Amino acid sequence: MELLKEIESIVHNILPSDTQVTKIDMEGPEVAIYTRNPKSFFENENYVAKLAFELKKRVHIRTDKTLLSEQEEAKKKILEIVPEGAEIKEIAFNPVFSEVVIESIKPGLVIGKGGETSKKITLETGWTPSIVRAPTSPSDILTGIRHHLNKNSPERKKILQSVSKKIYRPIEAKSDPWIRLTALGAFQEIGRSCILLETPQTKILLDCGLNVAAAENPYPYLDSLSFPLSDIDAVVISHAHSDHSGFLPYLFRMGYNGPVYCTAPTRDLMTLLQFDYIDVSLKEGKEPLYTEKDVKEMLKYCITREYREVTDIAPDIRMTFHNAAHILGSASIHLHIGAGQHNLVYSSDIKYGFTRLFNNIDLNYPRLETLIIESTYGKREDIQPERYISEQRLVQVVGETIQQGGNVLIPVFAVGRAQEIMLTLEDAYRRGALEGVKIYIDGMTRQASAIHTAYPEYLRKGVQRRILQNDSPFTGSMFNIVKGGTKERDELLKEGGNIILASSGMLTGGASLHYFHKMAEDPKNTLIFVGYQGEGSLGRKLQNNVKEIPITGEQGRTKGLKINLRLENIEAFSGHADYQQLTSYVRNLKPKQRRILVNHGNKVKTVEFAKTLTQKFHIPSQAPHNLDSIRLK
Ligand SMILES: [Zn+2]
Ligand SMILES: [Zn+2]
Repeated sequence: MELLKEIESIVHNILPSDTQVTKIDMEGPEVAIYTRNPKSFFENENYVAKLAFELKKRVHIRTDKTLLSEQEEAKKKILEIVPEGAEIKEIAFNPVFSEVVIESIKPGLVIGKGGETSKKITLETGWTPSIVRAPTSPSDILTGIRHHLNKNSPERKKILQSVSKKIYRPIEAKSDPWIRLTALGAFQEIGRSCILLETPQTKILLDCGLNVAAAENPYPYLDSLSFPLSDIDAVVISHAHSDHSGFLPYLFRMGYNGPVYCTAPTRDLMTLLQFDYIDVSLKEGKEPLYTEKDVKEMLKYCITREYREVTDIAPDIRMTFHNAAHILGSASIHLHIGAGQHNLVYSSDIKYGFTRLFNNIDLNYPRLETLIIESTYGKREDIQPERYISEQRLVQVVGETIQQGGNVLIPVFAVGRAQEIMLTLEDAYRRGALEGVKIYIDGMTRQASAIHTAYPEYLRKGVQRRILQNDSPFTGSMFNIVKGGTKERDELLKEGGNIILASSGMLTGGASLHYFHKMAEDPKNTLIFVGYQGEGSLGRKLQNNVKEIPITGEQGRTKGLKINLRLENIEAFSGHADYQQLTSYVRNLKPKQRRILVNHGNKVKTVEFAKTLTQKFHIPSQAPHNLDSIRLK
């Protein structure tokens, strides 16, 4: 490979011979340098910084195979070197990467001051530590993902090598370097987000979602593609919600075998949601689109990136994730296409306002010509109340219900809304506003919250500090976990005076639907919607004041279920920007874009929002249809 030769010459120019480099490898968009003298790199820390700067790539220094000590012996040494307070949960070896994965509750202690402890491990065992944070409460899904990745590291290394061959393949300069975008889903609608971006040399997919609320047309229009899926260079996933990543394992089932770029929390959360989709489908007697095997295949192809880390993903495209403040690890995607010919920002789902969980959304981009923006709340009257007013309202409604002996059901998206509500309830509880009330967490929320505690660096300072101090706000004593099972659920409903947080968030299935069926006819109970209810979902029907719904009764007979419980919509918990926030986002986004495409909103909202943007900011804006192709350059 041409590039490898070039890299070798740069590396040898920067590194003196006493660094004893034995091998240089490409691993996807990254460079791995093997050395027989790791000490020389510790003593000259500017080597790595210089290499990364010159190569414009992430650089890994790995020890030469000959230095690796025997695994049992290395493990013993590591336990001796690392102080006990680090609470090491697991040590796993990946010989192909010369790497030892150390999972601990306090990773800072494994790293040590100025990296001293971690360096000592390398010098004494030959293995380079890859240090990951253990969740503060156990999560079998996270453990499963980490085991799976470790076990398959030889195959992952091969995958990474073939990915880098594709990224750095030589391409011919074109006299007419066009760029085309095709809407494959979530244009003039919500659900099945998917965008194809093409240049003469490259094909990229942005998101690959599944519309779980829709009975008809739940999949993106991949059947419209005139080329095999294996021709796609890369898939970039903005965040874990099913409408952005739920269709991804199906791509692998149908022959895609390229990289998936996402943040580390997105990788873990989307896996959780995909497994849940399979589970729920099977329980409802439906054939899922893909199996666990397909999800595990997808995992091997995930390449994780942090916010603001620039990465080559194709010969003519560089990609960067930016904080979207919507859910854990959620990102807006910046693409730098060609030699500076065009810069695109795909906002994906964004929040531009206070949340208890996340830092403020990124508003500054190096360059920007085209913006694709969501419009879930893109209509002028879509104004959310102030957050603190909604929090007060939530506590008040709960109080009123509990006082008359009823239960409160809050259907939540297990990822995002659930944690915002938990932080709000925890705060109210601590202030004494919910005395005597029991809060039950049912469904996937516990697992999703545990994944949050493995990535505190993605959370707002206060929450981050609490997790680092092992005082996770998601595991407080006010929260009771429902293990599942109909009996336990029915028991706690009989008690009364309980708040139940259960997924799914739109009452499309799962635990929330079970509770709803049992609670609907009793007017003492309350149902509180705190998130968006998709068209076609039961949640939306209830918001539209349906008074009776058909359900399957005991002997498989259909009967009418009367809706007598109290219904409340409390909106400011939404992970989506409201109308005002969306327009402020466009106003404050830098630099000023030349064109705006509106998506991720229903027909009326996308069209109206595009009109508003054109009038307000004098930037040509439009709301394309699914299957429209637009030439960007
Ligand atoms: Zn979302
Ligand atoms: Zn979405």
